[in-house]
Amino acid sequence: MVKATKNTAMMEQYQKIKDQYPDAFLFYRIGDFYELFNDDAVKGAQLLELTLTARNRNADDPIPMCGVPHHSAQNYIDTLVDQGYKVAICEQVEDPKLAKGMVKREVVQLVTPGTQTDNHAETAKVNNYLTGVVVDENQHQFGLAYIELSTGELKACQLDSQDAVLNEIINLNSKEVVVAGEQLTSLTAQLEKLGILVSHAEPAPIANEQLLAGLRSSVLHQAGELLLTYVTETQKRNLAHIQPAVQYQPNSFLKLDHNSQYNLELTKNIRTGKKAGTLLGVLDDTKTAMGGRKLKQWLDRPLLQPQQIETRQRLVKTLLEHYYERNELREALVQVYDLERLAGRIAFGGVNGRDLMQLATSLAQIPKVKHVLDELDTPEFADLYQQLDDLHDVKELIEAAIVSEPPISVTEGGVIKPGYNEKLDQYRDAMQNGKHWLADLEAQERQATGINNLKVKYNRVFGYFIEVSKVNLAKLPEDRYSRVQTLANAERFTTPELKAKETIIMEAQEKSQSLEYELFTQLRDQIKQEIPRVQKLAGGIASLDVLQSFAHVSERNQFVQPTFNTEHRLQITNGRHPVVETVLGPQEYVPNSIEMDPETQVLLITGPNMSGKSTYMRQLALIVVLAQMGCFVPAEAAELPIFDQIFTRIGAADDLISGKSTFMVEMKEANQALQTATSDSLILLDELGRGTSTYDGVALAQAIIEYIHNYIHAKTLFSTHYHELTDLDQELKHLQNIHVGAVEKDGQLVFLHKIMPGPADKSYGINVARLAGLPDQLLERAQTVLDQLEAENGQHVTTQVRQSSQEPDTPTKTEKQLELLAPAPQPQPVNSSKLTSTEKQLLKAIKQTDLMGKTPLELMNLVYQWQQQLRKD
Ligand code: ADP
Ligand code: MG
Repeated sequence: MVKATKNTAMMEQYQKIKDQYPDAFLFYRIGDFYELFNDDAVKGAQLLELTLTARNRNADDPIPMCGVPHHSAQNYIDTLVDQGYKVAICEQVEDPKLAKGMVKREVVQLVTPGTQTDNHAETAKVNNYLTGVVVDENQHQFGLAYIELSTGELKACQLDSQDAVLNEIINLNSKEVVVAGEQLTSLTAQLEKLGILVSHAEPAPIANEQLLAGLRSSVLHQAGELLLTYVTETQKRNLAHIQPAVQYQPNSFLKLDHNSQYNLELTKNIRTGKKAGTLLGVLDDTKTAMGGRKLKQWLDRPLLQPQQIETRQRLVKTLLEHYYERNELREALVQVYDLERLAGRIAFGGVNGRDLMQLATSLAQIPKVKHVLDELDTPEFADLYQQLDDLHDVKELIEAAIVSEPPISVTEGGVIKPGYNEKLDQYRDAMQNGKHWLADLEAQERQATGINNLKVKYNRVFGYFIEVSKVNLAKLPEDRYSRVQTLANAERFTTPELKAKETIIMEAQEKSQSLEYELFTQLRDQIKQEIPRVQKLAGGIASLDVLQSFAHVSERNQFVQPTFNTEHRLQITNGRHPVVETVLGPQEYVPNSIEMDPETQVLLITGPNMSGKSTYMRQLALIVVLAQMGCFVPAEAAELPIFDQIFTRIGAADDLISGKSTFMVEMKEANQALQTATSDSLILLDELGRGTSTYDGVALAQAIIEYIHNYIHAKTLFSTHYHELTDLDQELKHLQNIHVGAVEKDGQLVFLHKIMPGPADKSYGINVARLAGLPDQLLERAQTVLDQLEAENGQHVTTQVRQSSQEPDTPTKTEKQLELLAPAPQPQPVNSSKLTSTEKQLLKAIKQTDLMGKTPLELMNLVYQWQQQLRKD
C-alpha cells in the first residue's frame, strides 16, 4: 500500500514535468538511471533498442518503462537528437538522503537538433546552426537569425520573400528552426516537408540585450530575441560565449540555390551523402576544426567583390610561393585545438583540466604562426596578423595552475600544480607527511613484532588499520593494539596514534580536493572573461587555415590564379573538373577550354551520351565557385566575369533511375533561372526537356533558349541530344554550337572527351548501347525501329550503327551508311529561307486570308485544301 502511494506520487511528479515538454522525450532521473515512461518508453525502446518493461507490472494498468544508465546516457541522447527528436533531461535537484518526501526534480536542459553541442570527430568540421525566423505584420519583411551554440557565432539578415528564407535555411543546413507562435504556417509546412524540425517560442526581452545592439531593424531584432529566448529556455546554462550579433547581407555573395549546390556536389556527394567525391573533399586540407568549418562557410558563400576576392588570392599566392613557411605554418596549426568550441565549453562551465591544457597548447602555437607571417612580410597579412592575439596572459595562467597531464575529473584532485597555492601545498604536505608517517609506522611495527607481512591498510569503513594474518597472530603481544575486525584469515587493529593521524590525513585530503576544485573554477571563471579574445583569435586562425589549404591544394593539383573582367568575357584554357580529375587521375582526364567572348551568350553542346557534356558544364560551374571563393582554379589560364548567381538544371547520374527527374522538376528549376537570372548570371541547363515526349521537349527547349538569348543575356551552357536545336545558330546571333568529339573505330565508339567547335553530326545512342554490352540481336532490332521511325517522320535522325546484319539493306540503311563517310548532312530547315515552295505559298495564303469574311465551313474547306497540298509534297 505504502509502495503504491509512493509510486503514484512519483508518477504525478513525472506527469507534471512531462506536460511541460510534450514534444520531447523526458529522461527522468531515478538513482543511477534515466527512465522513460508511457509513450516515450514505447517509442524510445524501439529507437534505442532497449528492453521495454513496466512499472507496477502487476497492477491493472502497468506503465510502460525503459531506462538507460546515467553514465552512458549521452550516446542515447545523441541518437535520438540525431534523428530529429528533442530530449528533456530531468535531474534530481536535491540529495535524496536529505529530501523530505518526494525528491525534487527539474529539467536542466532540453537538447534539440539545433542546440546539440556534442563533440564528435566527424562533426568537428561541420557547423550546427539553429535558425530563428520572424515576419513583420504585413508579411513582407522577414528577419532571420542563426546561432551556432558550440562556438557562439550569432548572425542575422533581413529577407523579403519566403522563398529566400527557405533557401537561406537550406543553405545553412539548419536542422531546427524556431518560429514565433502561429506565424509563418506555410513556411512551417515547407520546412516540415524537408524534415526540418520546427520549434515554437515567443520573443521576449532578454538579459543580455547588448548582444543584439548590432541589429538595426525591428524584424532583425525580433529574430535575435526569439532565438536567444529559445536558447535560454532550453539550455538553462551559462551562455557567456555568445558573440554580439552580426548583420549580414545574403546577396553580397554569389547566389547558388539549393538545387544547384546539391547537383554540383559542392559539399555532399549525392550518392553517399559524404564529403568524399565533392569539391569540399578536394579543397579541404585544413589542419584545424575551425578552419574546416570556415572553409565550408566560404564554399557556401563565394564572394562578389573583386577586391575581396583578390585579397584572398594574394594571400593564397604568397603562401603558395613560400613552401617552407607554409609547411611551418601547417605544423603549428596541427597543434591548435578547436578554440571556438573550447570557448563555448568554458562558458558552459563544462571544461576540465585537459581542456584548459588544450587551450594552453593551442596558444603556445600562436607565436610560431605569427613568426611565419613575420617572415612572409606581406602587407596583406596585416589584417589577419592583428587578429592573432596569442593570449600570453591566459596561457601563463593555465600553465602556472594546471599540471601537465591532468585527470578527467575536476573534483578528485591532482589538477592543480604544486606551488600555485600555499594553502593547497600545506594540505598536500600534511597528506604526504601522513603517508610517510604510515610507512614509518609499518616498518617500525614489523621490526617490533617480528611480523614481516604486517601491513597498514585503508578502507572506507574502518579508515586506516593494521592487518596481521592469522598465522602470525601468535607472535603479536597480547594488548599491543585494539582489535577492530576479524576476517577469515586475518585480524585488523588500530592504535590511538593511528586514529589521530588518520583524522589529519583525511581532513587534508578532503580539504585539498575541495580547494583544488575551487581554484579550478576560479581559474575557469577568470578565463571566461577572455572568451571574446579567444574567439577573435579563433577567427583569424580559421581564415589562415583555409588560405593555407587553398595554397596547398592549388600547388598539389596545379591550379592557377584566375583574373576577372567586367566585360562578360570568359576564357578558360584547358580547364579541368577538379573532382573528376582527382578520381580519374591527371593522365586520364582530358582538359577542355571554354571561350565565350562578350558577345557569346549561349553555348549549345551536342555529343553522344557519356561523352562528357555534363562534366564540361559542371567543370565551368566549379571553376567559377572556386574563383569567387578566392581560390585558384584547375586550368592553365582563366579569365572570368564575376557572376552574381549560378543556376543549374543538371541531372545527377542517378536522377533518372530514382525517377526524380520528372518533367515538373525540370520545368521548376528552369523557371527559377528564367525568373531570377540577370545578364551577370551563369545558367547551366543539361538536357532540358528529356523528361517529356520529343516534340514537347524540343519545342520547350528551343523556346527557353530563345528566351534566355533574347531577354536575359546570361552566359548559358545548354546541352542537348535534340539535334534539331543545332540550327538555332542561324537565327540566334549570340549562340554558338560546340560538341564533344567521339570517333567510331571498328564499330566501337571511342570518346575523346574533347570539346570542339560546331554541332555534333551524330548521336551515337545505339553505339553506346553496344558499348554497354547489349545483345547484338537487340541492337539490330533497335536499328530497324530507328530506320522505320525515320522513314515515317521524314525526320533527320542521325543515329548510326555498324551493320552486322545479313538482311538485305533497305535504301535508308545504305543511305545511312554512306552518311557516315560523307560530310554531315544539312539538317531539317527551321527558318523561312529554307521552306519548300509549297510551304512558302501556303504561308502566304494563311497570312492573306480574311478570316472574318468567311463562314466556319468555308474556313474548314480552306484548311482541308492546305492540308491536301502539304501531304502531296
Ligand atoms: P554526358 O553528359 O555527355 O552523358 P558525362 O559528362 O556524364 O557525359 O561523362 C561521362 C563519363 O565520361 C564521366 O563519368 C567521366 O568518367 C568521363 N569523362 C567526362 N569528361 C571527361 C574528360 N574531360 N576527361 C576524361 N573523362 C571524362
Ligand atoms: Mg549528361
